[in-house]
Amino acid sequence: MKKTFISKTKVEEIVKTYPTPFHLYDEKGIRENMEKMKEAFAWNQGFKEYFAVKATPNPYLIKILSEYGCGVDCSSYTELMLADAMGLKGEDIMFSSNDTPAKDYQYCHQLGGIINLDDISHIPFLEEAIGEIPETISCRYNPGGLFKISTAIMDNPGDAKYGMTTPQITEAFKILKEKGAKNFGIHAFLASNTVTNAYYPTLAKLLFEVAVDLQKETGVKIKFINLSGGIGIPYSPDQEANDIKVIGEGVRQVYEEVLVPAGMGDVAIYTELGRFMLGPYGCLVTKAIHEKNTYKDYIGVDACAVDLMRPAMYGAYHHITVLGKEADMADKKYDITGSLCENNDKFAIDRMLPEIEMGDYLVIHDTGAHGYSMGYNYNGKLKSAELLLKEDGSVKLIRRAEKPSDYFATFDFSEYYDKLK
Ligand SMILES: *Cc1c(COP(=O)(O)O)cnc(C)c1O
Repeated sequence: MKKTFISKTKVEEIVKTYPTPFHLYDEKGIRENMEKMKEAFAWNQGFKEYFAVKATPNPYLIKILSEYGCGVDCSSYTELMLADAMGLKGEDIMFSSNDTPAKDYQYCHQLGGIINLDDISHIPFLEEAIGEIPETISCRYNPGGLFKISTAIMDNPGDAKYGMTTPQITEAFKILKEKGAKNFGIHAFLASNTVTNAYYPTLAKLLFEVAVDLQKETGVKIKFINLSGGIGIPYSPDQEANDIKVIGEGVRQVYEEVLVPAGMGDVAIYTELGRFMLGPYGCLVTKAIHEKNTYKDYIGVDACAVDLMRPAMYGAYHHITVLGKEADMADKKYDITGSLCENNDKFAIDRMLPEIEMGDYLVIHDTGAHGYSMGYNYNGKLKSAELLLKEDGSVKLIRRAEKPSDYFATFDFSEYYDKLK
């Protein structure tokens, strides 16, 4: 059974100041998970997590992670701006972008961040953009084919736009070395939202073997191996959560097996987790405002796909709790809908839930990553606020809800807007 970190009483208190819908984040949960994560990789001297900013680009949340030594993984100009605004620079920034504009490379270089090249053709492009090749540089690898864990197909890298082939990364390392690069990194992201402790160790073994070959063949110094993101979370109640301790230990074993005998026992392990770091520690709180009974029974809520796109976009499951009715029988079948003029704007389809009354608060679980950040403004809908439930039980507004003026900010609309206000 999946539990919420928020009670009905607490929500009733919060809505007096901040009306629904809002995303709420759990500071205590974030910190406890971060501590476990750090501990799981403490065996590796240079270990560093670069939080994937795109998952939850909120500086208040990233600040909590940075207290534990986390850096940031950026992939765009504005994500770099966010890092810059937070005072992060140098090796606290990993720039794992793709199809990258020259000005993004320039900005990252100016901040001293580590550039992770997605393609061999980006070497001359980067050199042209920044006038040199940085001393520390990373390349993204794609082994092609299917990525399997024993016999289970996890994903299809051969079909993904990211990374370089084996001959390309080999050639890239040779070119970069010749152009003055001194410290090399290897990066790969081969499967997303994996709910198995075997993903990182399997990926690590593959990358470690590639690293040994690359070091032998090109003579470069490999400084770090970046296992990137992809550790998942149990969105549905029948899934078992990953155990980061087991994962860290699994990576350690292959490290001892592959890297240490090759004389590469000083290689740092980097990660770029997003979902695993924050996913379970955020939820979307929304209120039931309409009930409609036609060919199916619908509950309309005050949030919509603008606040959380994953169900509409991927058909993703997000668990729902009706606050105050946690112990009630789930004997009603509902579609839980938002207000977009899109029939896929449903947080749940044919979901068994307790009987819902108007005014009930629904908690949509696991929105702490790839939740708020994926939102958009379709139908002129405005994005919700983000709140932080602090360890002392108080609540802090960490991003206000959008206002109509935000929606109109990109027009020169003053002529009309002044009248509307
Ligand atoms: C999205 C992304 C991540 C984070 O992925 P999660 O699934 O949230 O762990 C990390 N690195 C890169 C390059 C990404 O694109």
